[in-house]
Amino acid sequence: MNPDAVGTAARSARLMERACASLAAGDSSTMRVQPYALPLVAERGEGSRLWDVDGREYIDLNMAYGPLILGHRHPRVVEAVTRQIVDAGSQLGFPTEIGIRVAEKVRRLFPGMELLRFANSGTEAIASAVRLARAYTGRPKLVMFEGHYHGWSEAVFNRYHAPLEELPAGDGGPAIPGTSGMSRALEDVIVCRWNDLDALEAVLLEHGEEVAAVIMEPIMGNGGVVPPRSGYLPGVREATRRHGAMLIFDEVITGMRVGAGGAQEHYDVRPDITVISKALGGGYPVAAFGASKDVMQLVVEGQVFHGGVFSGNAVVMAAAEAVLDEVLEDPDAMYKGLHDTADALAAGLRHILSDCGVPHVVQNVGPMLSLFLVDEPDVELASYRDVRAHGEFARFIDFQHEVQRSGVFFHPNMFEPMFLSTAHTSEDVLAVLERVEVAAERSLG
Ligand code: PMP
Repeated sequence: MNPDAVGTAARSARLMERACASLAAGDSSTMRVQPYALPLVAERGEGSRLWDVDGREYIDLNMAYGPLILGHRHPRVVEAVTRQIVDAGSQLGFPTEIGIRVAEKVRRLFPGMELLRFANSGTEAIASAVRLARAYTGRPKLVMFEGHYHGWSEAVFNRYHAPLEELPAGDGGPAIPGTSGMSRALEDVIVCRWNDLDALEAVLLEHGEEVAAVIMEPIMGNGGVVPPRSGYLPGVREATRRHGAMLIFDEVITGMRVGAGGAQEHYDVRPDITVISKALGGGYPVAAFGASKDVMQLVVEGQVFHGGVFSGNAVVMAAAEAVLDEVLEDPDAMYKGLHDTADALAAGLRHILSDCGVPHVVQNVGPMLSLFLVDEPDVELASYRDVRAHGEFARFIDFQHEVQRSGVFFHPNMFEPMFLSTAHTSEDVLAVLERVEVAAERSLG
C-alpha cells in the first residue's frame, strides 16, 4: 500500500461542501460532478502523479480525461507557455506566427486537414464541423452512433448513455435529447448501432439522400474503449461515398493519442472532415476542425461562419506547438513507448482479474484503455449495447474506490477510459498493478 495514500479526505470533503455554495453542483462541468466518487479536490500534478488537497498522492490514469499526453506540467509545455505570456502576450487579437506554425504542424500529422481552424473545445469544433457538412452537401440529416459523444452543442447532444430499453428498436432511430432545454435540432439526427455495417447500410438506404454526414468516434471512447471491427471503417468510408454523405471523424480523444496522426492514420481510413482536440493542447483548451481546401472554401468565403474571441489564442498555440514539437521529434518512438506501456498495463490487469476469477474485458488501442467488469466470462464487447448489457457498473465503482484509496486514480464510471502519458513509466505500471491486485482481492475476491 502506498503510504502517501493513507489518510482522510477531510479537506476535500469540506472544500466540496464549500464549492456547492458557489459553483452549481460543485464544479464547472456536469461530467466532473460525480455523485458516486470519493471526494477528491486536486491540488497539483506532476508527470504521472496527482496530489489532492489532503496531501495524498495518486498515479493518475485519468490524465484530465485525455489531454495530458505528455503528463502533468511537462517542462517543454510550461516553458513555451510561460515564454509566450511573459515575452509576447496571451492574446493579441491579430494573426500570429505561432498560430500559423501550429496549423502547419497539425497538417503534417493530418494531411487531410488541408485547411483548418482552431476552436476552444471539442464541442465547438464539432458544432462547426457539422455545420460545414450540412452547408457543403446541402442536406439536413446527421447519422450518429449509440454510445458516442460529440460534445453538448445543440446539433449533436443526444443521450449517449441511454438505458438499453430506450434505444431504437431498428437499425437506426431518433436521438434522445441529452439535456432539458434543447431545441428541435436533434430531429435531424438518426442514431445508429456502431460497428455494424449492415445497420448503417440500412439507415443510409432509407435516408441516404438527406444525410449530410455520418459522424463517429473512430475508436469508441465515450462508451468505454471499443475498437472498430476489422473492415468496419473502410466499409463506412465506402458506404458514405456511395450515398454522397460526408464522413466526420471525431478524433477529440484519438487524435495524437493512438498515434501521431490519430485513428485515421492507425487504420488508414481518411474522413472528409477531422476534429482533434485533447492531446493537441497537452492540457490547454484547444481544438481544430479541418478538411480539404474545397470543403473549407465555405469557411474561407465566410459562407460558413466560425468565430471565437479566444480561438487560436497565443497561450494555447504555445502549448500546442510544444506538444507538436515533442511528437514530431520522433513520432514512432513516442507512440511505440505509449503503446508498449499501455499493453503491459492491459496484460497485467487481465492477469490479475483472471487470477481472482473475475469476469472482465480489457480493451485498449495504445494509451486509451478500458477495463470492464462484466457479468459472465468470454463476452464480446463490440458496441455500446454490449457494454451496457454486460457491464457491472456498481461493482466497478466499489473496486475503483478501493484502488483510489491505495493511491491510483482512474474514473469510477466504467464508461470513462483510462489514459496513459509519456510520463508513465514501466515502474508506474508495476506499482499500479501491485495496488490493483490488493484492491481486487479486497473488493472482488
Ligand atoms: N468529442 C469527444 C469524442 C469527446 O470525448 C469530447 C469530450 N469528452 C468532446 C467531443 C467534447 O469536447 P469538449 O469537452 O472539449 O467540449
